[in-house]
Amino acid sequence: MLFDCETPPHLVGIARLAASSDLLEAKRKVEYFELETRRFIGRGSGRMRSMWTVNPYRGCEYGCKYCYARYAHEFMELREPDLFERKIYAKRFEKGAFRAELRRLKPGETIWIGTATDPYQPAERRFRITREMLEVFADERGFDLGITTKSDLVARDAAVLAQIGLKNSVGVHLTITTLDEALARLLEPRAPRPALRLGAVKRLSEAGVRVSVLAHPVMPLINDSERSLDAVCAAAAKNGAVAFSAAPLFLKPCSQQVFFPFLEERFPHLVRKYRERFERSAFLRGQYPEMIQERVRKIRARYKLKAREQPEWPADDQLDLFAPQYTELENERPRCESA
Ligand code: SF4
Repeated sequence: MLFDCETPPHLVGIARLAASSDLLEAKRKVEYFELETRRFIGRGSGRMRSMWTVNPYRGCEYGCKYCYARYAHEFMELREPDLFERKIYAKRFEKGAFRAELRRLKPGETIWIGTATDPYQPAERRFRITREMLEVFADERGFDLGITTKSDLVARDAAVLAQIGLKNSVGVHLTITTLDEALARLLEPRAPRPALRLGAVKRLSEAGVRVSVLAHPVMPLINDSERSLDAVCAAAAKNGAVAFSAAPLFLKPCSQQVFFPFLEERFPHLVRKYRERFERSAFLRGQYPEMIQERVRKIRARYKLKAREQPEWPADDQLDLFAPQYTELENERPRCESA
């Protein structure tokens, strides 16, 4: 029944329809916590060993089905995969302490914001920790700063990023796995729509910020077709991105706990194939990754984009990297801790 006797009689038209709508689903309850942290900057691990990492938040509301970072909540004894999306920890931020940590690093080193969780997830609108970090970077010089996000909120900071770029190298990496809005909604349920992310690519590049688009992860038989990858790359180029890349999905056991039930629900015909491959190893090996690499290489060449955006140093600041006050700090790196 569309209308019932409880609908206020004074309401008409769309107001009446809205007031009487059936509840389809209540919004998920997300809780925010403040987390004390001794260090904001940690040493990367694995392939990121050569860089420093910064993650303003623990947990991520976007809830991507393939997310590889859920394990991080297990360190806090939060073992249900769902809690990663519902209990978000914002690190208690102090500009002075962050600046002091930054100044202990060697200039020229790479610092990456958003290696484990999205630095522009909805919490950032409220807590602005990423923004405050960037304001500190804007006073510094000689760093190679990278940011990874799925959020168009990054465009809010276009001006401060451009300012950072005057004395540092800075690159923003927007993840766009597909242009198909319905598919994106399934895979990345609470992340901004692909069109909004492309809008951010445009606004940032117009502001003079180097942007690359990452179509990671490439999921077999879901978003790996030539047509799908080509569409993302074409849109990246059209909106001013300088680089495009894509790499195959990997699924560690903590990610499988979410991804396999998702497949069962939405792509049941793929379950057996995925299980066969990923239960043996978290990484796809053999011809498939090579084929994707080749496909991406050809597509990238079609649009004349680079594979990676390269650090670009402001010409008039190069010499500062070798100034004595910087080289003396070589042996004073902070001890490594996870971000
Ligand atoms: S945006 Fe990144 S960190 Fe957040 S849920 Fe998606 S994959 Fe995980």
